[in-house]
Amino acid sequence: MAIVSATEMVNKAHEGRYAIPAFNTNNLEWTQCILKAVQETRTPVMIQTSEGAAKYMGGYKTVVDMVNDLIDSMGITVPVALHLDHGTYEGAKACIEAGYSSVMFDGSHYSIEENIEKSKEIIALAHAKGVSVECEVGGIGGTEDGVTSNGELADPAECKAVADLGVDFLAAGIGNIHGKYPENWAGLNFERLEEIKEAIGGKPMVLHGGSGIPFEQTSKAVSLGVSKININTELQLVFADATRKYIEAGKDLAGKGYDPRKLLKPGCDAIIAKAKELCEAFGAAGKA
Ligand SMILES: [Zn+2]
Repeated sequence: MAIVSATEMVNKAHEGRYAIPAFNTNNLEWTQCILKAVQETRTPVMIQTSEGAAKYMGGYKTVVDMVNDLIDSMGITVPVALHLDHGTYEGAKACIEAGYSSVMFDGSHYSIEENIEKSKEIIALAHAKGVSVECEVGGIGGTEDGVTSNGELADPAECKAVADLGVDFLAAGIGNIHGKYPENWAGLNFERLEEIKEAIGGKPMVLHGGSGIPFEQTSKAVSLGVSKININTELQLVFADATRKYIEAGKDLAGKGYDPRKLLKPGCDAIIAKAKELCEAFGAAGKA
């Protein structure tokens, strides 16, 4: 099975009150680990790249071919969507052309009028090709690909304006942050989440910066209509930690421990374990 649009899996998650894990990938190993974890836990998944990560891997076409080829060679039977995370206007168009099955257009740094105009155009282009679309209203805290925002709470009326364009799922700032959460983080703003949910008439919502949000808050967000949770930092941290331990223990100096297949294995095993844990935590395990 080749990659599929994310619309059906996200809508099913929304009806069933669980969330699709959307894992960012960085390379071949990362992609294999994510696919292994979701196949073993029977989890529908979105694999996503930032524009920077896709460039790092050799471009959008390389990513599309890699994901489709791995689905084939690994015998993956769970639904897999390939999604562009925080796409620019140009990047979203390029991914629709290159064969991504889902794109995010992040126009949150434009004026709301320009965000609406550009979102409308991307939605039309994507839907003509059966590609699902996520749009963003209001910034999300932290830095992603060099774009920093202050993490303001999204305005419910602006969310409604973008939801009414026919977007498939909507990302809105509710106090969430990209990267590691600071000690003094105020937590998710559930009051605002409920106001947005009311305003957009039950459209699925996306929670960015899902790494490190306490489980109770994630579950509550899912109960209020969050149906896709983005995970990037958490997999990076467990990979780095396991790799550091391997090297600090001098294992790369023993025998052929320097072979990349050995050197990267502890990190890969850590990614698989963490991804499985999150599939269970989001209630998505067993749903494919
Ligand atoms: Zn994000």
